[in-house]
Parts: sequence; structure tokens; C-alpha cells
Amino acid sequence: MLSFIRSDLAQLSAYTPHPGSATDETPVVPRDRDRVDTNESPYDLPAVLKEKLAWIYQQQIETNRYPDGSQAQLKQAIAEYVCEGANLEGQAFSAAHISLGNGSDELIRSLLIATCLKGEGSILVANPTFSMYAILAHTLGIPVVEVGRQEANFEIDIAAATEAIAATQNPPVRVVFVVHPNSPTANPLTEAELDWIRSLPPDILVAIDEAYFEFSQTSVVDLLPQHPNWVILRTFSKAFRLAALRVGYAIAHPELIAALEKIRLPYNLPAFSQAAATLAMSHRQELLAIIPQILASRDDLFAAIGQLPELQLWPSAANFIYLRLKNTPPELMNGALARIVGHMKAEGTLIRHTGGGLRVSVGTPEENKRTVQRLKGAIASLA
Ligand SMILES: *Cc1c(COP(=O)(O)O)cnc(C)c1O
Repeated sequence: MLSFIRSDLAQLSAYTPHPGSATDETPVVPRDRDRVDTNESPYDLPAVLKEKLAWIYQQQIETNRYPDGSQAQLKQAIAEYVCEGANLEGQAFSAAHISLGNGSDELIRSLLIATCLKGEGSILVANPTFSMYAILAHTLGIPVVEVGRQEANFEIDIAAATEAIAATQNPPVRVVFVVHPNSPTANPLTEAELDWIRSLPPDILVAIDEAYFEFSQTSVVDLLPQHPNWVILRTFSKAFRLAALRVGYAIAHPELIAALEKIRLPYNLPAFSQAAATLAMSHRQELLAIIPQILASRDDLFAAIGQLPELQLWPSAANFIYLRLKNTPPELMNGALARIVGHMKAEGTLIRHTGGGLRVSVGTPEENKRTVQRLKGAIASLA
């Protein structure tokens, strides 16, 4: 061990994206597999848009020059998109309400730096949920307070959360992370959860991650102007089909945005990524036109998986489905799920084992058919 490395990092492990691609032991090209493990859109950018983007790259991007560090054009385009989706009069949001990240992952880290660093705060998460909040907090030495969710519908255990916030001192809870709809369990915030986050005091930041907004069409953005202690996170990685280019954004009170702008690296978003996201904004109607089709595929996939008597699944407000094995004792659950994942991987379908269940993204109709077949085979192989 190199002795200059911070000692606590030895206990942490890196996030492993796409198990089975880059670090895989079997040399299968990931493209040959059905990658329904990371909730991306199954559809690439339409060819006409890729051509436009290629043209922009050739004609307008000077690779020897730094990108636009103000990111003004993209912020403006996003502000318009956010207003369009909000039920608010006038220009409720402007570029001053937007900060851009190299993926929303970067914004999560910036939020942590802006609120909790130097021993000033802990964060609270309700598991199972998106793992990056805790992973990033741990790399910054920020304590993570974890509570559970109701088994029936994965609503946050509000009583436990309230108690945990009251009990946590030195440092107190400064940020509560919620996901709307949650990953991996696909449930949107309930009225009770909304009441709870509304009731949190102004010295606690509520980060509402709406990575799946375009699928769920539910947002708390209308409530944001009344809540300066809320921040909404969104991304171009899912519905907008730009996961490869790493663009996320935060919508918040200008004072919080100004703090995030201080923390971000000056050129955090490459010129090509800014161009692609700006293009996606101006062609949003075409890009989002496929959403109803993906949701219909999700419902078909849900019905087909629902036919497998061994599985329990939960309603989804997003582009993925969460499931567990019925009648399996808790101590055997993870082992059985790992075998299902391994079996499916060998057959060519990648799914995600997380939070004590399996998360399956909605793919193309052909991929979904194979997902169901292979799930069936994997369950049969358990016997
Ligand atoms: C996929 C996802 C994101 C997106 O992260 P990026 O860094 O923007 O790709 C953020 N939050 C949740 C809950 C997600 O599932």
C-alpha cells in the first residue's frame, strides 16, 4: 500500500459499472449482450441527429480551444425545458437556477462538498436506493445515516427517518437524498413522503433526484420556488439517450447554484457534450416521442414477468422493473439472486442485482422477450 494514500480509502471499493464489460473474464463484446442493467434508453440517438452532431463537431468545435466555461447556451435551453414542464406562470426558472455536471454524479459530489465537508454534516438515505449518494459521501469522509423502506411499496420509513435526524449530532444531517421515482424500486414519492420532505427544517437540504422524470412525468419542480432548501437533479443519461456524454443538471435556488458553481471544475463539461445536450434540447420533441412506446414495452414486460409464479414484482413509474423471489428465506435470497444474474449473463442478458432484489431495465421488444425467456430459464436452473 502506498503510504501517502488516505488510510480510510483502503476500506472503500470503487463503483463497478457494467459488471461483465470492461473487467469481464470472458472476452464477450458488450454489444453482443442485452444490457438491461443500467436503465439507459435502448435506443441510440437517431441517425439524423448524430449526423448533425458530427457536423457541429467538424464545423464549430475547435478542439484546441477550451469549451464554453459559462455553459450559458445549454443552461438557457435547460431552463426553458424546465419551465415548459412546470405548472408555473412566467419564467419561474432561468439559467441562474441551473448548474451543470459531468453527469448528475458530479452534482451529487458537489452538493456533498457544498454542505457536509469539514465535519459539518451527515447525509440520510433510505435503502434500497441509488448507491452513489453513500459511495460519494464515503470518499469524502461524510457520515451516512441509513434507514429502511416499507416492504409493501418501498415508501421511506418516515418514523425511522425522523428519529434518525433527531438522534444524529456531530455532525447533524445536512442532506436528505430521495429519488423520484426511486431506483432500484421504481416507486414515485407518495403524498406522505412529500409531506415529510416539506416538513424538514430549512437547515436540511432535500435533494430530489428526478433521473427518470421523462418516464414518470412526475416532478416536484412546481414546489421548488417555495422551498429554497430543495434541489432537483436530472440527467441526459436516460430518456435523452446521452449516457455516453455525461451531462446532468441541478435546479435550485440561485444561492445554492452559486455555491455549486464555485465548486465545479471550470471546464467540467466538454464542448462535445455541451453541443450534444443543446441539440437534444432543441430536438426534445422527437427524442421524447419514443417514451410512450418504452412505457408500453415496460407494461408488456411487467405482464410477462408477472406470469412467472416464483417472482414478486412491484409497479414501476420508470423504465425498469424491480423484482424479488417469492418464498425464499432472506438468508438464501442474495445467493439465489446472484445465481439468476450469473445464469442470465451466461445467456447474454445483463441485469442488476441490488438492494436485495433484481432490477431489469426495459429494452427493445426483442431484448425484453429474451429477458423473460432467460429469467424463466434462470429460475428453472435454481431447482
Ligand atoms: C442513472 C441515474 C442517475 C444518472 O447519473 P448520471 O451521472 O447523470 O449518468 C442519477 N440518479 C439516479 C437515481 C440514476 O438512476
